[in-house]
Amino acid sequence: MIFGVVYQAPVMSPLQRQILSVAMRSGPLPRGDLATRLSSSRSRLSPEISQMLDLGVLRLGGLDESRGGRRGSLLIPGGADVGVLAGIDIDADRATVAVTTLDGTIIATEVAPITGDPEPRAVLGRTAKMLERCLPGDLGPLLSIGVSIPADIDPVTGLVESAPTMPRWLQLATAKFYAARFGVRTFVDNDVNVLALAEASCPGGDAHGRAFLVVKISSGVGCGIVVDGVVFRGSYGYAGDIGHISADPANLTLCACGNHGCLEALAAAPAIIRAANNLGAVAESSSESPPAGGPPLTMELIGRAAESGDARLAQLLREVGGHIGLVLAGLVSFFNPSCVIVTSGLAGGEGILLNAIRERIYGRTLPASSRDLKVLSSRFSGNAGGFGAAILAAQGFVGTAGPVPEARPPRR
Ligand SMILES: [Zn+2]
Repeated sequence: MIFGVVYQAPVMSPLQRQILSVAMRSGPLPRGDLATRLSSSRSRLSPEISQMLDLGVLRLGGLDESRGGRRGSLLIPGGADVGVLAGIDIDADRATVAVTTLDGTIIATEVAPITGDPEPRAVLGRTAKMLERCLPGDLGPLLSIGVSIPADIDPVTGLVESAPTMPRWLQLATAKFYAARFGVRTFVDNDVNVLALAEASCPGGDAHGRAFLVVKISSGVGCGIVVDGVVFRGSYGYAGDIGHISADPANLTLCACGNHGCLEALAAAPAIIRAANNLGAVAESSSESPPAGGPPLTMELIGRAAESGDARLAQLLREVGGHIGLVLAGLVSFFNPSCVIVTSGLAGGEGILLNAIRERIYGRTLPASSRDLKVLSSRFSGNAGGFGAAILAAQGFVGTAGPVPEARPPRR
């Protein structure tokens, strides 16, 4: 859940932050379009825009070629000299830091592996040093920080509430650490919501439609929910936890939650890797097949081998896709999204998985709800967590990160 600390006096009015938010999402923006999107008038926006141009948070980005008559100037977000945003993505096996300008251009990035089970504060300190290296002195001030971690964050306390893949992080105040270190507002959210935010917020995000889902298959299976461009988090901040929906009640595979047949137990990366290992000596039908006795299997290796002809791994991915598709069919019937975006780390083999997901969704839903549904790979597949976290920082900076869920009511 979003949690912001260390309030920095705003340099812009609320309306100016809204203007910047639209400019960050839209690409070069005609003033008339800006007024339409904000349901405002050009005369009301004009002094605000002038002030933003003076501040440098907006720039002129050429002339509008799309209209006849007198061509107006296009507005784009300010450059790195005005200020930069930082994204920090902490996963179980690596950390990524990205620094971007207001328009989302990455100007510096650093990736470091995380091995073993290091002390969480050591990881925080290490990522802080990574960020310091990514902030050379000729840039503008750091405006805000976004942090992505594979954990649930308590929206009231900002503490890590549940972190199945990183249990040592429980009750850690990550936002507070970075906010104190860098003196800027810091926002932390779970990795799937950050990915959904990135999908919704970048230029082209509108093409996903009013309502769409983002499914991330990694150490667990999570789902980001986007409605009207905003990540929906539910009443208390924990919407989208689809990993413990039953995908096969008859399946006796035990889940970490104590139930049997959960989606996570059948379709998360550890389950896929375990099943691939159980296939024994992986078929050596292609040069891409992971060699017996070689390095441990990874999702990328499995995906590449399946794509290049390993029939048993391809069948495994179809079975996994069937499990995911069954759960998603229920969500599609309920939610009627225009698009389901999937990221799995399977490299080229993701196409096999997506076909199986599509097939199961179409077979288990009525045409009215799935006829126009698209099932797509994420454009942020792979090493994009740092970038997504920088988008979180941007959204937090302009105050459009969405409504903060309520605190839970006290127990009776
Ligand atoms: Zn479970």
